[in-house]
Amino acid sequence: MKDIFFEDKVTPVKGLIRRYKTRVLIELTYLCPVDCEFCFRKWKKEEKRESLTRKDIDKIVDYIFKNKEIAEVILSGGEPLMVLDLLKYSLEKLSALDQIKIFRIHSRALVTAPLLVSEKFLKILGQKYKQIIYFSVHINHINELTSETEKVIEKIRKTGVILYSQSVFLKGFNDSVEVLEKLFCRLIEIGVRPYNIYQCNKIEGIENFIVPLKKEIKIMTELRKNISGFACPTLIIDVPGNANKIPVPLDFWDFKTNTLIDFNGNRVEIDE
Ligand code: SF4
Repeated sequence: MKDIFFEDKVTPVKGLIRRYKTRVLIELTYLCPVDCEFCFRKWKKEEKRESLTRKDIDKIVDYIFKNKEIAEVILSGGEPLMVLDLLKYSLEKLSALDQIKIFRIHSRALVTAPLLVSEKFLKILGQKYKQIIYFSVHINHINELTSETEKVIEKIRKTGVILYSQSVFLKGFNDSVEVLEKLFCRLIEIGVRPYNIYQCNKIEGIENFIVPLKKEIKIMTELRKNISGFACPTLIIDVPGNANKIPVPLDFWDFKTNTLIDFNGNRVEIDE
């Protein structure tokens, strides 16, 4: 199955995905400068779905206005930096809604195409909105943090938006303590808070990328022991179907015996 998260079933208005009560995601475009093999939305690009129009955004704004519990909007794609006029229009229209408390922008352009971080884009970010903008950098390996990428991260940080990162575990690429320790520690040094690291979505044809969950837990447990908690993202499994993003407990807990295991391997009983 290609639509593993049933996204089309939870699309009440064209371009708007609603898997959660209070937050929605807008797929501004399916354009992207790269074709990641592990991309779970690449089938939409293959179907040649078109970018949204201003009229589509107006309909989305109308839907959100009628659903007052929605407080958070994620502007995503594809690559949202490839449709700057639409991104600007969406931010301006949506920021007028009092119910919207935060924006998030999901991008991998800082790694794949840093030139997309243009003056025009920085100006859009620097505009005064009622809401704070959180900017997610999709980055998977320390080698992706090139000097060019670091330079554009600095430029974005100066606009006042808050940066955080999201990563995907990829077998043979970043499934090691060393690689991720370097990546996450460098990210906090340059002002990007590691937020989530996902188990790679199990879409057809990418079985070779899947890291066994036990190994992912072991790596994240080691990292939690070795580096600042501030540098440790949460390990997440995005459950296929119309489900949710579920945090994975690390090896510090033995729920059967009601004990925790401290950083030195000591078992400590906890009260219920
Ligand atoms: S950068 Fe993001 S949207 Fe583009 S192909 Fe990769 S995962 Fe998909």
